[in-house]
Amino acid sequence: MKTIIEPEKKLPVILDVDVLVVGGGPSGLMAAQAASEDGLKVALIESRSFLGGNLTIGLPILDFLGRKGNQVIKGLPQKFIDRLIKRNGASNHQSCPLHVSITFIEPEDVKMVAMDMLKESGVNVLLYTFFSDIITEGDALKGIIIESKRGREAILSRVIIDCTGDADVAFRAGAPYLKGNEHGGMQPPTLMFSMMNVDTEKLRLCLADENGPYKADKIPPSYFAEHQRFIVVGLRETMEKAEKDGVTLPVKRTIIITGLKKGEVWINMSRVNGVDGTDPASLTEGEYEARKQVDEIIRYLVGYVPGFEQALFDRMAPFLGIRETRRIIGNYVLTRDDILSCRKFDDAIAVASYPLDLHHPVGGDCSLEWCDDCYDIPFRSLVPQQISNLLVAGRCISATHEALSSVRIMAPCMAMGEAAGRAAKIAVRTGVPVAEVDISKLREELVAKGAYLRHL
Ligand SMILES: Cc1cc2nc3c(=O)[nH]c(=O)nc-3n(C[C@H](O)[C@H](O)[C@H](O)COP(=O)(O)OP(=O)(O)OC[C@H]3O[C@@H](n4cnc5c(N)ncnc54)[C@H](O)[C@@H]3O)c2cc1C
Repeated sequence: MKTIIEPEKKLPVILDVDVLVVGGGPSGLMAAQAASEDGLKVALIESRSFLGGNLTIGLPILDFLGRKGNQVIKGLPQKFIDRLIKRNGASNHQSCPLHVSITFIEPEDVKMVAMDMLKESGVNVLLYTFFSDIITEGDALKGIIIESKRGREAILSRVIIDCTGDADVAFRAGAPYLKGNEHGGMQPPTLMFSMMNVDTEKLRLCLADENGPYKADKIPPSYFAEHQRFIVVGLRETMEKAEKDGVTLPVKRTIIITGLKKGEVWINMSRVNGVDGTDPASLTEGEYEARKQVDEIIRYLVGYVPGFEQALFDRMAPFLGIRETRRIIGNYVLTRDDILSCRKFDDAIAVASYPLDLHHPVGGDCSLEWCDDCYDIPFRSLVPQQISNLLVAGRCISATHEALSSVRIMAPCMAMGEAAGRAAKIAVRTGVPVAEVDISKLREELVAKGAYLRHL
């Protein structure tokens, strides 16, 4: 590849903080709030025009409750939901045989509450600001370089938390990482969209009819009889019928998520295999291809799924939803066995219960495997190798391709963010590298502030 040398340049230092969070998705929001709690100087940068990351693309939050119905994610993530509920921007947590638990949310409320919350916590939030590079000092990061309409600028920080979903900071810092399965195959992305004017009651009653033709995967008809809000995954025979009639669909399962508004549903059915969410050319093609799939998906829904007869397209998610890119190889790599055996760790900082939910990198299907109860997420999976003051939270933590398919869900990402924020605060206060943070102190603080851990 042809290259050029970038000329050396003096950059203005626009901020000098204790803790800097890069990325304002579910993990970043909680990390910034936790780090700022007792007076440290905290900043958060976000490349988009709003906070929330994937909380804003029409997805419900899964996994606040565990498989046994007890609440496994509490603390700051629950406080966030409480704020949303106050403005009718979230439902209560609802158990589900397939998704373990569902919390329905409204994307626009998420954006507003997230900003309110961080402003109230005194976090310096910069939207429209892209992390582009690191500034190093020995084995530590001295700060980062950002890009915005003002050009290149620097932010200095004592600890940095990478919540970009793609491990952008860890990658630039040279921390070891992996991408995809043993063949490099990553879970494919989906462009979410919503429809309005759907008769969700009609759909629900059809799904509740034991003798009817509309079958959901794993969820029995009685569930639909009892719940007005739901996610339906399945309708495989309905799709086969449509396909026989010449409708082309990119997935094997229908996924419809009821919204908070009457007649609103979100559709999780586009799928573009082979997209690399860290490559703009690949993302461009992926976004274009996903948009092309939407018309045909609507043709299927309106033509074959009960309740959609009068439905209309409403809004497209603001960006292509990326399930998987880089995962750091940290001080511990969480595995499929850890999850399926409900493993406990001495350095547990969060508890999750969601199944391995692997959207296959090739083809159009997905496989699911549940643990009996719940499993721990160890602090060491948030600690990248080689850099003494960097933590990672969210979907780019240290986990195998299979384990990521479970731990990537938003409630655990929020809990990891809270833990990373509190760990960063302890590292600053005690002047130690992040890997040497006193784990018992961190775990005690988490529990004292309302987070759930299975054992202390
Ligand atoms: C199609 C799809 C369906 C899913 N379904 C569900 C579901 O139903 N329920 C559920 O709970 N989870 C679901 N997930 C998983 C979940 O949404 C994500 O794994 C989770 O949001 C990851 O959280 P995060 O904080 O790590 O990253 P993200 O939510 O991706 O947030 C990262 C943030 O960092 C910002 N950022 C990234 N790079 C930079 C940079 N260089 N500079 C500045 N800012 C940057 C981004 O703009 C973004 O706001 C789904 C994911 C997808 C893609």
